[in-house]
Amino acid sequence: MGACIFCKIINGDLPSAQIYEDEHVLAFLDISQVTKGHTLVIPKIHIEDIFQMDSATAKNLFSPVPEIANAIKEAFHAEGMNLLNNNGAFAGQEVFHYHLHLIPRYDHKDGFS
Ligand code: 5GP
Ligand code: ZN
Repeated sequence: MGACIFCKIINGDLPSAQIYEDEHVLAFLDISQVTKGHTLVIPKIHIEDIFQMDSATAKNLFSPVPEIANAIKEAFHAEGMNLLNNNGAFAGQEVFHYHLHLIPRYDHKDGFS
């Protein structure tokens, strides 16, 4: 998809701070860090939302998520983590390339202070 910013990140046309990459998946820091280490995990194929995803893509996407979550938890010394995914404008989705938010949680505040 030409105009999709996450496809541009996958293609290297836009920069990102990458956390993880394999054949099917890219993980990179969210440009607007809700907490320290806030990461997005995306499929390398353009899928708009969960409603468009088939189970093979879901398997590929979620397979590395525990490894990614543990790497972030360790790197940023997080105490916990929220995983969340918005599907559709009415659910708060703003970028229409599927993405899973990994939001580390800390014993106080957002981990920055
Ligand atoms: P949504 O509301 O669609 O679930 O979340 C979209 C997320 O994408 C937001 O948290 C936003 O900060 C992030 N985002 C939007 N544009 C960019 C970008 O160019 N680079 C990165 N790394 N994150 C982005
Ligand atoms: Zn895309």
